Amino acid sequence: MVEFHETTDTSVFGQIAEFQHEQVVFCHDHETGLRAIIGIHNTVLGPALGGTRMWHYASDADALHDVLRLSRGMSYKAAISGLNLGGGKAVIIGDAKTMKTEALLRKFGRFVQNLNGKYITAEDVNMTTKDMEYIRMETKHVAGLPESMGGSGDPSPVTAYGTYMGMKAAAKKAFGSESLAGKRIAVQGVGHVGTYLMDYLQKEGAKLVLTDYYEDRALEAAARFGAVAVGLDEIYDQEVDIYSPCALGATINDDTIDRLTCRVIAGCANNQLENENVHGPALVDRGIVYAPDFLINAGGLINVYSEVIGGSRQSALTQTEKIFDYTTQVLTKAEQEGTHPQAAAIRQAEERIAAIGKVKSTY
Ligand code: NAD
Repeated sequence: MVEFHETTDTSVFGQIAEFQHEQVVFCHDHETGLRAIIGIHNTVLGPALGGTRMWHYASDADALHDVLRLSRGMSYKAAISGLNLGGGKAVIIGDAKTMKTEALLRKFGRFVQNLNGKYITAEDVNMTTKDMEYIRMETKHVAGLPESMGGSGDPSPVTAYGTYMGMKAAAKKAFGSESLAGKRIAVQGVGHVGTYLMDYLQKEGAKLVLTDYYEDRALEAAARFGAVAVGLDEIYDQEVDIYSPCALGATINDDTIDRLTCRVIAGCANNQLENENVHGPALVDRGIVYAPDFLINAGGLINVYSEVIGGSRQSALTQTEKIFDYTTQVLTKAEQEGTHPQAAAIRQAEERIAAIGKVKSTY
């Protein structure tokens, strides 16, 4: 059984050591008020790629914890998807509504530039295309830009396609067929990815139930996809075959797990299991097939990677389609090893990083 590196030591180096990061960069600028942390988890496979998010963290410790956890997740996502990318992420501490200025963002860009390509940034929570343009003025190490700026464009359709592939593989495991025709599926969150995903699901003849934080968005999606819209908390009580978390993390937790009647969980949200060590095995005990989140939502990263290596949207989609096979392999491996799918996926990612690390150990 894989033991996750959950933090027990809350000191700065204690946390960095437990998450096993290579480098963590604290960025500060008095003039602009910039306070940012860049987490470079692992660069064995390639440069650390991951978005920058701006968030009003309750404490610096929360910001550090977030960037360490997120950047480690990026290492796993790239590794399990067969990409030659390492894992990184950055957080800018502060209120995105009031603190964001051109100077602050460009200053942050200079810190990224100083890393000489060891870290490649991209858009994440509370960052806009305009913000990325400012960062791009100071560093070329930015990916995921809009097509109008020579980038790979919105990653959401590719993320949705990968999630769809992962869902079908999990359905095959649970129901003996990858077909989603007639399957009742609850989609939590109909934003960018959720909407593209529902398009695939509707076309295949699934019966859809959905919810969204914004009621008008939920009602609009329900009308468009012939789905039933339910309240935010009601989504966990639906009699469905598949639950698809496409909004927030940690929705599989002590409060929700006993309410789920589904046989499959497959969605695009990051960090769906509140506690991997507890809720991963708990899903196995309940006979629910869990498609690991960082594996099936990797389409967006695959799309950005295609930009880094000069590939096309079509090549990204072709690579993303392999998520079906990867998910099947991980689910089989988990069963054979008597563990849960998230643990098997993490082990597989760590094994690839370790194996390629050995390849690189000679000149
Ligand atoms: P989004 O912001 O476009 O959509 C999220 C939707 O969830 C919004 O419509 C929002 O109103 C809704 N929502 C928020 N809180 C909710 C709640 N409590 N219950 C129900 N709905 C709620 O984001 P997105 O780009 O579609 O991404 C969705 C998730 O997938 C996020 O967790 C994101 O981190 C993850 N993800 C996205 C991508 C990508 O390519 N966009 C890639 C990998 C992972």
